[in-house]
Amino acid sequence: MPITPLHMGPGMLIKAVLQGFFSLIIFCWAQLLMDIQPILVVLSGKGHLHGFSHTYIGATCIAIFSALTGKWIYQAIMIFIKNDFTEYQKLLFDVPKYLTLRVCVISAFIGTYSHVLLDSIMHADVEPFYPFNLDNNINLIISIESLHKLCIYTGLLGLIIFFVIRVVKLNPKLKSSALFKILFRNK
Ligand SMILES: [Zn+2]
Repeated sequence: MPITPLHMGPGMLIKAVLQGFFSLIIFCWAQLLMDIQPILVVLSGKGHLHGFSHTYIGATCIAIFSALTGKWIYQAIMIFIKNDFTEYQKLLFDVPKYLTLRVCVISAFIGTYSHVLLDSIMHADVEPFYPFNLDNNINLIISIESLHKLCIYTGLLGLIIFFVIRVVKLNPKLKSSALFKILFRNK
């Protein structure tokens, strides 16, 4: 799925679950880096469309690069948009001032590995376990239409869960309610 927002769907659900331990910006940065190789192949007409970048070894290399550069990408984006957010919006959207290396590493690895997984289902030429095994046993394990729906629905579900959790956490009355204490074990 070259340069497609569909990869962001599962990312949104992961963000909803992991909250501050995961950065959607680093996840998105990893998606963009993953698809540089296929774009170059399309433009030049040479090479393996989903080549080394779409293997788990390639994804590991790209994840390390994404994690190490992600902190600076995040800082640059924050400088660009910081005046557009109120303090409440920063809390609501879970926008920290800085990202820790741990968050960058978690987000980058989830980003590149999930990318290989989804593209392995969609594209027959992906060889995820190269050079040890050239088979792609999960290609079309579900239809492309179902895969697209899965990405869209996980994204919508993630958005709902994310904002419900954020709004409840930021609202003192809701936070002290019995339901919140049961759901989130708030003390
Ligand atoms: Zn791809």
